[in-house]
Amino acid sequence: MSILVVGSVAFDSIETPFGKVDNVLGGSAVYFSTSASFFTDVNLVAVIGEDFPQEHIDFLSSRNIDLRGLARDSGKTFHWQGRYGYDLNEAQTLATHLNVFETFKPRIPESYADSDYLFLANIDPDLQMEVLSQVDSPKIVASDTMNYWISSKPESLRNVVKNVDILIVNDAEARQFSQEPNLVKAARKLLDIGVKTLIVKRGEYGVLMFTRSSIFSAPAYPLEEVFDPTGAGDTFAGGFMGYLANTGDTSDEGVRRAIIFGSVMASFTVEDFSLNRLKKLNYNEIVERYRSLKAMTHFEGLPEMGSPL
Ligand code: AMP
Repeated sequence: MSILVVGSVAFDSIETPFGKVDNVLGGSAVYFSTSASFFTDVNLVAVIGEDFPQEHIDFLSSRNIDLRGLARDSGKTFHWQGRYGYDLNEAQTLATHLNVFETFKPRIPESYADSDYLFLANIDPDLQMEVLSQVDSPKIVASDTMNYWISSKPESLRNVVKNVDILIVNDAEARQFSQEPNLVKAARKLLDIGVKTLIVKRGEYGVLMFTRSSIFSAPAYPLEEVFDPTGAGDTFAGGFMGYLANTGDTSDEGVRRAIIFGSVMASFTVEDFSLNRLKKLNYNEIVERYRSLKAMTHFEGLPEMGSPL
């Protein structure tokens, strides 16, 4: 089954303690769709400017990503400039040039309207609602957001999260949105305002998933080399949704597997700048890392009877 994603296609300029790159391919929809393309067909809705090179379009097409929803407007492509210190969990935004993104009104091609899986990447929550209204009856809708929308459009965002199945945010965003520093309490507050399933990404500390009746904690794959965390969140979401769309399995076990696939995909993205690692990745490496993460985190239960000690 195919996934529809609406988000940003970007040029990123990034500085980490290990290097610096200028105007490389990035954007939430790019990371998401590349990651999801290892599992299923992806339809991408976004906007680019006149300066967006054919080379990047060829790459996305080579991943079988359907680009009929990729509009080209006059002007420049969205540009994000960010920096990370030694705490790679926190990005510092140095500049955001919206460019063609400023007037972006997502138009969903008719052929995408029956998409079963929809990912509303980080864009204006009012646009997220508009997209939602253009898709007939999706089976699963997940959405992301960022600090900017939490502070500037909290009411619109509340409306979005009530209308989607899964909210995927990082820990700082969960705290900010709920105005609660403790993550478990923050999750409860978000469930109280109508979030059905909350997934909290915690960078190198892994992922927590909260529903009304359960909590699932997944570790991140322990990496020796973390080069650039940009795109990790969207790559996670792509692996997560991609696996769900591939299998259609939304049981508790299926969703937990999807979280591990998401974490595995993100662990590859952070090994290099931009999409460089995902461009070289093959499916066997994904499966191998899934298995080794499972082996690393397995622990035994206690005996049914008697003292465990
Ligand atoms: P993440 O997965 O959260 O690291 O997302 C990284 C991507 O988000 C980068 O490639 C940026 O181009 C993109 N990005 C940064 N700021 C924004 C924004 N305000 N709107 C949409 N996309 C953004």
